[in-house]
Amino acid sequence: MDTAPESALQAALPAATDTRVLVTGTDVLDRTGAAFAEAFGAAGSLPVAQLVADGNTWALAGEQVSTALRAAGVELAEPLVLPAVPTVYASYENVERIRSHLGGSDGVAVVIGSGTLNDLVKLASAELDREYLVVATAASMDGYAAYGASITKDGFKITRYCPAPAAIVADMRLLAEAPGRLTATGVGDLIEKIPAGADWMLADALGVEPIAEHVWHLVQDPLRASIAEPEQLAAGDPGAISRLAEGLLMSGVAMQAHQSSRPASGAGHQFSHLWEMEGLGLDWEPPLSHGMKVGLGTISLCALYEVALRRDLTTLDVDAAVAAWPSWQETEAKVRAAELPPEVAEAAVAQCREKYVPAEELRGRLERLRELWPELLPRLRDQLLPAEEIEHKLQVVGAITHPAQIGIDEARFRATYTRSQMIRSRYTLLDVLLETNLLNDCVAELFAPEGFWGRRADQW
Ligand SMILES: [Zn+2]
Repeated sequence: MDTAPESALQAALPAATDTRVLVTGTDVLDRTGAAFAEAFGAAGSLPVAQLVADGNTWALAGEQVSTALRAAGVELAEPLVLPAVPTVYASYENVERIRSHLGGSDGVAVVIGSGTLNDLVKLASAELDREYLVVATAASMDGYAAYGASITKDGFKITRYCPAPAAIVADMRLLAEAPGRLTATGVGDLIEKIPAGADWMLADALGVEPIAEHVWHLVQDPLRASIAEPEQLAAGDPGAISRLAEGLLMSGVAMQAHQSSRPASGAGHQFSHLWEMEGLGLDWEPPLSHGMKVGLGTISLCALYEVALRRDLTTLDVDAAVAAWPSWQETEAKVRAAELPPEVAEAAVAQCREKYVPAEELRGRLERLRELWPELLPRLRDQLLPAEEIEHKLQVVGAITHPAQIGIDEARFRATYTRSQMIRSRYTLLDVLLETNLLNDCVAELFAPEGFWGRRADQW
């Protein structure tokens, strides 16, 4: 029996630390006023609503949201409607601009928008120590219900901690009418939870980071249904879009509940984070979205899992792997030689230090891996999807499926398999392969003429 998305989400909501009110369904914009009153109306007094939108999102829902708020007795401040062209950029200047508008009066922001606008208002509100409400306009990322905002400062994308919205209104008709590229980027962001789940299984099995069952299920249970119908998603079918939106919202709730992105982000996300840190596509119009890069990272990781899982790790030569394991000084030197942007390199050394284990500890871990492999292998296989299937789904929805599409040449892309391991302390397949001294061989296999990327070499 399928649980209706709405009830599954409502059931999950108590686990969220910031979000108290979540309204989802078809034609629910009229309930924005009631959601606002429920979230912010204490003891009969309602704050003023400060609407923030861009020209596009205002045209889509500005009137209806305003009418719904007024009908609930909410007073409206002068709205801030940013120009639609060029696309509003997730820059710290825009955070300051929104913050100074909001700070001009007392109130609570109501943002009508998706990734960028939501992140801008999330951070601006946090800096004013205020809560806010978001009216979602696209199923484009899992950040609606997530804490944190991705903002570009001095040419680099950084993630700032800030609370998730107190209230979310997600109208499925509105999401279904969003441009296809926004839905495609949502699929890219969500589909990574497949290999990310496998990454967490590895970290759990090896005693690095235990799986939290409750949040695991919040992300993984709706996941397959959310990405099951790429053709319908591409066609903007409201049912398919609402299942995608449910998956994305559940991932956000899970991150709130876990106070970490672990439930929703693995090494596939690290591919994207590395490119973001290097500024890839930030100055494009429209800017290259998070989910497009994450989707490509997902194909990359699923392909790597395939070659890794073909190896019989019950016969792993632990002595040889331990003998090949670099000292911390050698590891640090390698990170510093990886040509990361200077600010990133410093942070990467700290992240790697956090997950570095000395050789003798590594020995115990690898012996455990060898022992657990017969039990772990079928569970990993169950969790994963073939890289080709991921690629197909992403192609159908119009997402990025080859590095050449976003201007990454073969050498840079190949190096991403080793460099992205360095930027986060999160333990993933990349760490397992590094520690077993198999990473270089597995990557070489992917790029050999018969390997996954070798067979796609004509696209470069
Ligand atoms: Zn993401």
